[in-house]
Amino acid sequence: MIKLHDKYFKPFLSQTVIQSAVENLAKKIADDHKGETPIFIGVLNGSFMFVADFLKAYDYPCEVSFVKLSSYQGLTSTGIVETLLDVPENIEGRTVIILEDIIDTGRTLKELVHLFSKTNVKEFKIATLFFKSEIYNGEYSIDYAGINIPDKFIVGYGLDYNELGRNLKEVYQLNQKHMINLVLFGKPGAGKGTQAEFLKEKYNLKHISTGDLFRYNMKNDTELGQLAKSYIEKGDLVPDEVTIKMLEDDVDKNPDASGFIFDGFPRTTAQAKALDVFLASKEMKIDATIALEADDEILIQRLLERGKVSGRSDDQDEDKIRNRFEEYNLKTAPLKEFYEAQAKFHSVSGIGAIDEITMRLSKVIEEL
Ligand code: AMP
Repeated sequence: MIKLHDKYFKPFLSQTVIQSAVENLAKKIADDHKGETPIFIGVLNGSFMFVADFLKAYDYPCEVSFVKLSSYQGLTSTGIVETLLDVPENIEGRTVIILEDIIDTGRTLKELVHLFSKTNVKEFKIATLFFKSEIYNGEYSIDYAGINIPDKFIVGYGLDYNELGRNLKEVYQLNQKHMINLVLFGKPGAGKGTQAEFLKEKYNLKHISTGDLFRYNMKNDTELGQLAKSYIEKGDLVPDEVTIKMLEDDVDKNPDASGFIFDGFPRTTAQAKALDVFLASKEMKIDATIALEADDEILIQRLLERGKVSGRSDDQDEDKIRNRFEEYNLKTAPLKEFYEAQAKFHSVSGIGAIDEITMRLSKVIEEL
């Protein structure tokens, strides 16, 4: 086991396994292209080690160049990608073969293909050393893939965790045993969002609020936002398939998280079941569900107060608030039994000073 920054990683792929995958790729590509002089284009930074070993195993005429993209992952479904080192000159009419260290969801690949779409190349192919075929969106066909890997966060052989680990000769995977995954449960206004802000700092967790994700999408008028809007404005739940997909995408965007606080999700039994299946596929699980309890009348007052400041239309109208409570009683409250059956349900009073409530929650977490 090794430690990089705050996280632990365990050995995953040996030098021998990596080396033979690189040699196989070089052989396959040579079989298809040895009669010409292809230009191999490495995608920096991660691919530098792969490109070096690949070229040593490729015994025919070829050229090499690099591009560099930098992606900023925000709350959007596509991270904004900036080009730091652009397409090389004189590639017109040539065979271009991209050498990627890893392809996962395909978000970066999309930008890469876009970068080359303006060029007039003879042939454009994509090769990757590591391939997460399970989560790949399938938008473009991958011409050559070295090693198919499950959806694990990996480091080494050029790949980093916050810039550390690139010099490792083997590939390591994140050790998930240290993770804590929590569900904050409770009616609208119970203080889930407020408490999540404190808990995420205290325990180094990633906070995912489906309500915030929907509001972000509505503000930016995305397709997802337009779809959710009519439900949210009435205080109804957004359909499960939309919400589940959005949640899973957001978890996938944080493969190196030390754990998650799910706030406002799951809200239906179908969501809770989908969450269990999804987490199990990543060797993760929910450790605890903690409910913040408070009376309806107190919550209504809190929400109306919040509505004055936040401008949220679903907080400004008592009928909509009551509808959200009805949705909760009907669809979300049964989750108490769902998590009790797994011995994961805890409940604390959500009435009192904010820091007192944080202490009550911390006590539950620390006893896990
Ligand atoms: P919140 O900020 O958690 O109160 O969520 C605001 C609104 O977003 C809810 O009233 C629902 O319309 C929608 N929403 C948030 N999370 C979910 C979810 N897990 N399932 C369905 N709808 C949701």
